[in-house]
Amino acid sequence: MVSEVLQRPTLVLNRSWQPVNVATVARALVMVWSGAARVVDPVDYQLYDWEDWSRADAEDGQEFVRTVSRRIRVPEVITLADFNRLPSTTVAFSRRNLFKRDRMTCQYCGRRPKGGELTIDHVIPRSHGGGSNWENCVLACVPCNQNKADRSLEKAGLKLLNTPKQPNWNPIYSQHTTGYQSWAKFISDAYWSAELLE
Ligand SMILES: [Zn+2]
Repeated sequence: MVSEVLQRPTLVLNRSWQPVNVATVARALVMVWSGAARVVDPVDYQLYDWEDWSRADAEDGQEFVRTVSRRIRVPEVITLADFNRLPSTTVAFSRRNLFKRDRMTCQYCGRRPKGGELTIDHVIPRSHGGGSNWENCVLACVPCNQNKADRSLEKAGLKLLNTPKQPNWNPIYSQHTTGYQSWAKFISDAYWSAELLE
C-alpha cells in the first residue's frame, strides 16, 4: 500500500510555475525533504517546505504516506526551488504516443475499430525509403493497411484524413496517463484536460 502511494505521480513545476516533469511521490518527497522543491497546495497555491508539510497531518479522504509517527500528505504538485529548467519541447516518437496522436482512429477511413485492431502504417513504405517518424507514420485499420500494402498514397489511390506531424502537446503528458484534477490549474493543454483527466 505504501509503495503504491509512493509510485503515484507528482507534477513538477519550475520556478516560473511551468510544468517541467512528472516525478513519483517518493522522488517528490525527497526533493521537498532536501530543500530542492516545495509543495504547492493546489487549492490556495500556498507553498510548504518540508517542515511545514510533514507537520500538517493528512485529513480524512486525502492520500498520505504513513511514517512511524505521522501521516504525510501526498504532494500533488511541487515547485523547484533553485533552477529554472525549461519544459522540453519535443514529444518522443513512440507507438503509444502515435496511438494518442491519431486518437485510435484509422487515418485512411476514419474508423475506430472495436477491440483496437490498428496497425502503424508507413505512408511512404519503408521499402521505398520511408522513415519511422511523426511525419511518415499513421494509424491504419487492418483492411486499409492491407489494401494500401507496399504502395505510395498515389499508387494506392488513398488520402490521409490528417497531415501527420509531431503533436504539439506538452511532452510531459505523453509519458503519463493518470494525473490529478488539480493539475489542470497548472496546465494549459487541451489534450491533457480533455483526454486524461476524465
Ligand atoms: Zn481504415
